Amino acid sequence: MKNSEAQQDVSVSQGVRMMFYMMKPNETSFQTLEEVPDYVKQATPFFISLMLLELVVSWIRKGKPPGRLDDALTSISAGVLSRLPSLFFRSIELTSYIYIWENYRLFSLPWNSPWTWYLTFLGVDFGYYWFHRMAHEVNIMWAGHQTHHSSEDYNLSTALRQSVFQIYTSWIFYSPLALVIPPSVYAVHLQFNLLYQFWIHTEVINNLGPLELILNTPSHHRVHHGRNRYCIDKNYGGVLIIWDKIFGTFEAENEKVVYGLTHPINTFEPIKVQLHHLFSIWATFWATPGCFNKFSVIFKGPGWSPGKPRLGLSEEIPEVTGKEVPFSSSASQLLKTYSVVQFALMLAFYEDTFADSAVLSHVTLLLRVCFIILTLTSIGFLLDQRQEAAIVETIRCLMFLILYRFGHLKPLVPSLSFTFEIFFSIGIAFWGVRSMKQLVSSPWK
Ligand SMILES: [Zn+2]
Ligand SMILES: [Zn+2]
Repeated sequence: MKNSEAQQDVSVSQGVRMMFYMMKPNETSFQTLEEVPDYVKQATPFFISLMLLELVVSWIRKGKPPGRLDDALTSISAGVLSRLPSLFFRSIELTSYIYIWENYRLFSLPWNSPWTWYLTFLGVDFGYYWFHRMAHEVNIMWAGHQTHHSSEDYNLSTALRQSVFQIYTSWIFYSPLALVIPPSVYAVHLQFNLLYQFWIHTEVINNLGPLELILNTPSHHRVHHGRNRYCIDKNYGGVLIIWDKIFGTFEAENEKVVYGLTHPINTFEPIKVQLHHLFSIWATFWATPGCFNKFSVIFKGPGWSPGKPRLGLSEEIPEVTGKEVPFSSSASQLLKTYSVVQFALMLAFYEDTFADSAVLSHVTLLLRVCFIILTLTSIGFLLDQRQEAAIVETIRCLMFLILYRFGHLKPLVPSLSFTFEIFFSIGIAFWGVRSMKQLVSSPWK
């Protein structure tokens, strides 16, 4: 599934249909893993088109955008960060699966049978339900998954707010499938299961009638993202909602949903969005007395503490009033515009890096990844109005110029190469002067 010449590009029709799992077995069955297209990599134009469509529909219906710029940038940042490891390694969800398949499989279902295709669809979705449920009920798994829930808006960009770390536990829940289902069939459904969950992150679709009975829909998933008490630990399904109905975790949408974590993190800094709960577990682990209690801090629910039931007490979840004000950036419009421009440039380099990953040297790949992470961090600092923002942005602009000069970043438009250099040189001068002023006025803050 990585950089193989045997992979095919998806057509526009397939691209649209793959976002809704409307693919046929005969067009998505492959004998070998190498032939399986990287559907997720090819989904970017469809993500962007659907987000633009959501923006237009929201403007027409409500007269306002479906979310806020600062929140959306942070969500897309998390999406970018979560994809970076795949530049270097095949995902653990695939490597572990291949290992089990090669060493422990009981028998092999035929890769080209529609029955295998449908069975894998069900198997992956069932595995996802249990992974997702455990990601909410086991604190150390929640440390990864909470990233996805940290947005206080609910729109298509929220879908991209993905954790870097959750695949290190999700693979366990899919591994039983490796006893009988070929990796090439699994790899297709793993991707479609993820892609399906994009379109359900929206408020512009209300109720889908009879489809609500079987499918996970925007309405069901809005409940999952709510911090109202009635929403907590509900609707874990990926594609099908029937698992929640079978295992007693289903809740229909009724009162207005307030989105986000029960204790909002109030930051747009992408690394903090990924890691803050791990730090919190670390602190609680050392502050909690007794070996068994320490073990429970890691493996019981995020709301657990000594003397409480495994998943904590629901009455401790803060009540919502409907008047909650989401955390917003206090940066000026000009600074937000600057952040958007830098973010767009970074996205272009990110796309280019994935497109050329097979031919780029490891050094170039590593330097580009560092530049992308530094860009995301810097934009987070600017939006959070952190004091260190000026110095980080100076270093980032400098890094850009060095990578550009030494050919590790290629010009997006060769004829504009000089313009790029001027633009980033002005950036160095501007942010450099600001950092100097800050250092002079408050050297140790
Ligand atoms: Zn969740
Ligand atoms: Zn979600």
